[in-house]
Amino acid sequence: MRITLWGVRGSIPTPFSHTMVSEKIKKAMSLATQKDISSEESIDRFIDSLPFSVKGTYGGNTTCLEVRSKDGEIIIVDGGTGLKNLGASLMREDFGRGEGVATMLFTHTHWDHIQGIPFFVPFYIKGNRFNIYSPFSDIKERIEYQQVFSHFPVNLDYMFATKEFFVLEKESELNLNDMKIINKRMRHPGGCFGFRFEESGKSFVFTSDCEFNIDEMDYIDTYRDFLTNADVAVFDAQYTFEDSVINKVDWGHSSAAIAIDIAVRFNIKKLILWHHDPDHNDEKLDAVLSNAMTYLSMDKKKRDYDLQIEVAFDGMVIDL
Ligand SMILES: [Zn+2]
Ligand SMILES: [Zn+2]
Repeated sequence: MRITLWGVRGSIPTPFSHTMVSEKIKKAMSLATQKDISSEESIDRFIDSLPFSVKGTYGGNTTCLEVRSKDGEIIIVDGGTGLKNLGASLMREDFGRGEGVATMLFTHTHWDHIQGIPFFVPFYIKGNRFNIYSPFSDIKERIEYQQVFSHFPVNLDYMFATKEFFVLEKESELNLNDMKIINKRMRHPGGCFGFRFEESGKSFVFTSDCEFNIDEMDYIDTYRDFLTNADVAVFDAQYTFEDSVINKVDWGHSSAAIAIDIAVRFNIKKLILWHHDPDHNDEKLDAVLSNAMTYLSMDKKKRDYDLQIEVAFDGMVIDL
């Protein structure tokens, strides 16, 4: 399967500012030598060598990802503002001709997981078909409510694609050809569900908006079947360690430290830190990764475990 992360920010879209651009240029120039800028090739090499926070950005769109099965089945998970760019990409395929078919899954309906829907162009094209699933029994009403006239000028019914809603049984399994999708209840204000995708012996787990705390291993062990042996887990790591144990307990999110503990406990091979705090700029997110690597090296069990860790960015592609 191929997974594309279209929106990785939590809570609220986080646009880039002109001062952030200036700071990146200044930082890059301060690191460059005469040799680094002597030719186009050396400039490319120099840019490649820069930290991600200097040469790029983790991105500001809210939750949306795309999972493509090996049969070409398209599964969209959540409709945060990242959905707009996914829509533009899909319009270059069958969806631009009104012949597209996709499955949509919703973890929950906080704003950061639905706000891209009114700007999702394939929804406006007659002939496209979307099968929309969630364990929330009123998922249709929740999505419709976002587009009542006082909030948005176009009602969901005036987006002419066919949209059929299905309620998933909680903690059940959905099969789409060879792709198995398991949903699992997450602890989060108002409720939320994670999804585990399995196909051809590979597994991908998506757990956004979930709170796990370091001192409750009995609770964490109830997720053993859901998490064990995942090849990749995209995991909520919105909070710093201090936030998760002191300032923001019960706010419904986790930290990189607990994500690492869980990954090692359940034999997860690659961990992708996700749902970035809107107050964390690119430098801070670089620091989240280096702190995570330090935490991983702090005791022998974790050190010996070959866990790969990456920080999610808008546009990241994962092939499994
Ligand atoms: Zn969220
Ligand atoms: Zn939420």
